[in-house]
Amino acid sequence: MIAAPLRLILDRDALVANWRTLAAMSGPAACGAAVKADGYGLGARAVVRHLAEAGCRDVFVATWSEAMALVDAGIALSVLHGVRAADMAVALAATHARPVLNSVEQLRRWRDAGGGACDVMVDTGMNRLGIAPEDVAAGLLDGMQVETLMSHLASADEDVPLNARQRDAFAALRGRSAARRMSLANSAGIALGADYAFDLTRPGIALYGGVPGPALAGRIRQVVTPEAQILQRRRVPAGASVGYNATWTAAVDTEVAIVNLGYADGYLRCFSDRGQAGASGAVLPVIGRVSMDLTAIDVSAAPDLAEGDWLAFGYDLPATAALSGLSQYELLTGLGARFDRMWR
Ligand SMILES: *Cc1c(COP(=O)(O)O)cnc(C)c1O
Repeated sequence: MIAAPLRLILDRDALVANWRTLAAMSGPAACGAAVKADGYGLGARAVVRHLAEAGCRDVFVATWSEAMALVDAGIALSVLHGVRAADMAVALAATHARPVLNSVEQLRRWRDAGGGACDVMVDTGMNRLGIAPEDVAAGLLDGMQVETLMSHLASADEDVPLNARQRDAFAALRGRSAARRMSLANSAGIALGADYAFDLTRPGIALYGGVPGPALAGRIRQVVTPEAQILQRRRVPAGASVGYNATWTAAVDTEVAIVNLGYADGYLRCFSDRGQAGASGAVLPVIGRVSMDLTAIDVSAAPDLAEGDWLAFGYDLPATAALSGLSQYELLTGLGARFDRMWR
């Protein structure tokens, strides 16, 4: 295999430290991990391996193909999108994963097929996925082997009354089903306090360095740093322009590095003239438009950088979200397949 000219440096200790922080904040509740979308772009297999070693026992994926990609990971998976008719053969045969049933139709499909253990999602106000709380109270789950009764917070990253309304609607279901456990909080929900933790929490973004609200600021470590290799270094004379549509013009003679990273890798055009790379302490601005596979960097402040050297890109998630207008989630899940993913 040829080493790629772009790589994600992934910090295993930071990932594990973030999980331990969230587990501690979850109090007596167990702390799981959302690893859908290939571990938010980091690579689900490695994320699951590191977190399982740290003691994580509950992992959430979106689809059955994501579940099957982790069939030998040695951990119990819940499949958040439940079971379509087309999933049933795989879902019934799976011993490592169970569905999170989301609708009355999914519940019937699973029960009628003699499906065993499952989770159930209840909608407490997000109106995305889940059965109605009244359906639980009315006994719709009777006779089913429900491992975890779940609900999902719509606005946990904001201080709004909907949070407490959802928590109270969910808490009212305690004892109304045979579910072994109850689970409500995502990353931001963990920060809302002990009464949101129930029996199991489900952080995603904060594991990977996302800071969904002030309560987690300063407690979560950055996990992902994109790096790209310099393909060419050139001197751009004063008055000349760089890149598509000549949006950047050199005010003075400028040293420019062209690196192997572009919007096809998730480094989107919103970083044009805004993003930053760094090398040996110098801050090196992105200049001109980001192209599909290439980005230009002003390296005047780093005289020693040469073709073949690597530049690290600023990717602190809250700061980069503010800079780019992308969400912290998009910043991770958009990272493309051309990066080598290197855990350190
Ligand atoms: C994605 C997801 C999570 C994790 O959310 P974060 O905001 O990334 O912590 C938890 N629960 C459900 C149902 C999800 O879909």
